[in-house]
Amino acid sequence: MRKGKPRLGASSRPSAGTALLLSLLLFLLPACRNAQTPSRTQTRYLFDTVIKITVYDPFDDGYYKRAGRQRPDLDQALAGAMNLCQNYETLFSRTIEGSDVWRLNHAGGQPVEISSDTAELLRTCLFYGEKTDGAFDVTIAPASLLWDFHADSPALPDPTALAEAAARVDFRQVSAEGNRVCLRQGAMVDLGGAAKGYIADKTAAYLREQGVEAFLLNFGGNLLAAGGKAEKRLTAPEDLEPFSIGVRDPFGAASSLAASVQLSDGSVVTSGTYERYFELDGRRYHHILNPADGRPVENGLESVTVFSSQSADGDILSTSCFVLGPEKGMALIESLPGVEALFLLADGSRLCSSGATLTGEPGKLQIQPEG
Ligand code: ADP
Ligand code: MG
Repeated sequence: MRKGKPRLGASSRPSAGTALLLSLLLFLLPACRNAQTPSRTQTRYLFDTVIKITVYDPFDDGYYKRAGRQRPDLDQALAGAMNLCQNYETLFSRTIEGSDVWRLNHAGGQPVEISSDTAELLRTCLFYGEKTDGAFDVTIAPASLLWDFHADSPALPDPTALAEAAARVDFRQVSAEGNRVCLRQGAMVDLGGAAKGYIADKTAAYLREQGVEAFLLNFGGNLLAAGGKAEKRLTAPEDLEPFSIGVRDPFGAASSLAASVQLSDGSVVTSGTYERYFELDGRRYHHILNPADGRPVENGLESVTVFSSQSADGDILSTSCFVLGPEKGMALIESLPGVEALFLLADGSRLCSSGATLTGEPGKLQIQPEG
């Protein structure tokens, strides 16, 4: 029999000196580990949510020498990434005066010259507007601005005003030619259902340009993973371990998980009834709206999580599927190569797309996207 490690029992209580040494070691341990796999994390409030960027530099000198590359400057990359996000907020925000979206919404039907980023995102939104037959509608703004999910004493919008607003929601009222965009009088744009995903993709591209190969972006539950993580310095990217990513249990506390998935590269985006809502007279009113009547969607779904390579697609698709409902939503996912989804329903059932399997409670999710 192997001898067990000595254990600290009542008879071997440490002396004050040993205790001090132990606590010093415990204090130093995380610092040592940091020295082995440097990482930097920054959190900021942007896009009406908390965004968190973590960048890693898990490789040893040999790796960079062999690849003929410079070790990335994590501080510089992180600062640049945050700057980029800040700049996108000043383009896409509906409320920041002078933003592209603000200028579009205040143009009174006149054409407006916007940045190529905003035009690109708008075109993607219009593409999905067609694809979802208007379930995803980037002109949801007249309706969405009548719902205040931050109010101290929330109230329902006036029904007549909401019906009038919903009548103005129609993505076909947007015409775009290059960067010149025109909204028909009365139409307004809200990029809230797509912007975080788009910005995550752009941030990822920027970090890669800076030589950062492993990072995790969390933009208010909109996740984008690259590379993986490491406990100690590695010689090659193949040795990185996947990130463990949780999908929240819609019925539990913020920290309780319905599923977890191991993911090295890719995007995971969830749209749920618990992301932004208020409760009134025992009913929950959340922020994903039916473009037909401007009211929160009620179709038995509690959350939709989409796995894709591009986060812009994932963000738009999670909102879209939520509006489309379990059947049409899953049919849309199945029609798209390389995209998988997990739908959690109010009755406790869980639906997976054909390239995803969920086992156990809480579920372990395996993704094998085809295509
Ligand atoms: P979150 O912002 O919590 O990540 P979503 O990505 O699902 O959640 O986006 C919800 C946001 O999208 C709303 O706050 C609103 O700005 C906008 N939105 C709501 N309903 C729709 C819709 N049917 N089509 C497009 N955008 C929508
Ligand atoms: Mg979305």
